[in-house]
Amino acid sequence: MTVLVDVATLCSIVKRVGITHFMAGMEKTMRRDFKRWREFDKCARVASHSKLGVIELMPISDSCRYAFKYVNGHPANTKIGVPTVMAFGALAQVDTGYPELVAELTLTTAIRTSVTSVMAARALARPDSKTMGMIGCGAQSEFQAIAFHALLGIKQIRIFDIDKSAMDKLSQHLKGYPELEVIQVDSAAQATKGADIVTTCTADKTWATILTPDMVEEGMHINAIGGDCPGKTELHVDVLKQAKVFVEYEPQTRVEGDIQQLPLSYSVNDLWRVIAEKEVGRESKQQITVFDSVGFALEDYSALSYLYKLVQEFNEGETIDLIPQLDNPKDLFVFVSDDADEQIANKHKAA
Ligand code: NAD
Repeated sequence: MTVLVDVATLCSIVKRVGITHFMAGMEKTMRRDFKRWREFDKCARVASHSKLGVIELMPISDSCRYAFKYVNGHPANTKIGVPTVMAFGALAQVDTGYPELVAELTLTTAIRTSVTSVMAARALARPDSKTMGMIGCGAQSEFQAIAFHALLGIKQIRIFDIDKSAMDKLSQHLKGYPELEVIQVDSAAQATKGADIVTTCTADKTWATILTPDMVEEGMHINAIGGDCPGKTELHVDVLKQAKVFVEYEPQTRVEGDIQQLPLSYSVNDLWRVIAEKEVGRESKQQITVFDSVGFALEDYSALSYLYKLVQEFNEGETIDLIPQLDNPKDLFVFVSDDADEQIANKHKAA
C-alpha cells in the first residue's frame, strides 16, 4: 500500500511538530543528504516551457530510494487566483520500484526552499548576521522569514513588494513572531540598505534586475531564489561578478539560475562541498556571497524522506491502493475481468 499525504495531512503533521521544529528537522535531514552528495544519481530537471510558465519533473535516487517532484512556475497565476508554484511528488523503493509515498509538495516546497536557503546562509553568511532585506512578499516569503528568524537568528527584516497587499499579508502573518521586527519599506533599495542578508523572492517571467550593484554592500550574503528559469532573473550581472557565487547543481543552474547571464567559463562554487566541509564558503568578513538558488531534486528527496519518517512515526496519512494488490503478480487482468468488481471489493476488504 502507498501512503498519501494530502494538504490536510501535511498541515496536521506540521501542527503536531510545530513549524520551526519541522523546519529544523528537515534541515538536519537535508544537511545529512548533501554530505553524501556523491551517493546520488543526479540530473538536471526536465522542463517544459510555455509562454506563461514552465512545468518541470525532478528525479533523483540513491541506492535505497527514488524520488521525483512535479512542479510548475507560472508568475501570472496569482492574477487568476492560482499559486505561482504548485507541486506534488513521490518516494519509491529502488529495489522493487514500489511507490511508498505520494505527497502534496506545494507547501512542502515552500518549507524545503526556506530550509535550503538557511542551510546555505549558515555556511555562507557572516555568522553575526541579524538583519535581512526581503524583496518579494508572495507565497514563499513567510517561510523564508520564519526559517531565517527561527533557525538563523535574524532579528529584523525589512520587506518590499510592488504589491502593498502582499507586504500587509506578510506583516500580519509574522505578528506571531514578536521577537522578529518587521518593517515595511517603499523600495528594494530601502530593504537592502545595511542588511546582512538579502533575500530576493520575486516572480516575473522576465530578465529582471531586482538587485543592482549600488544596492550591494560589503559582507552581504544574497539569497536569490526567484531567478530560476531560462529568461527569468533577479540579479544584475555585475552583482554576480562582485561576489563568490554558490550553486546547487551546476548543470541545472547554468541554464536556470541568475548565472545564465554569465559565460560558461565563469567559475562558480558547489554548495554541497561547503556543507561537506571539503571547501570553505565565505573567505572574509568583507566578501559578498550569492546563493543562486533554483531548487534541486535532492532537496525534495530530503523533504519527502523526512515527511515519510514523520508519517510513520505519527501513523498519519491515508493508505491507498495506488498499485493493484495481486494474488498472482502475473495476473493483472483479473482486475478488469467480468467479476472485477467483486475482486476489487474483496481486495479492499482484505486491506
Ligand atoms: P508569488 O507569485 O506568490 O510572489 C512573488 C511576489 O513577487 C509577488 O508578491 C509580486 O508582487 C512580487 N514582485 C514581482 N516583481 C517584483 C519586483 N520587481 N519588486 C518587488 N516585488 C516584486 O511567488 P512565490 O511562490 O512567492 O515565489 C517567488 C519566486 O521564488 C518565484 O520566482 C518562484 O519561481 C521562486 N521559487 C524558487 C524556489 C527555489 O528553490 N529556488 C522554490 C520555490 C519558488
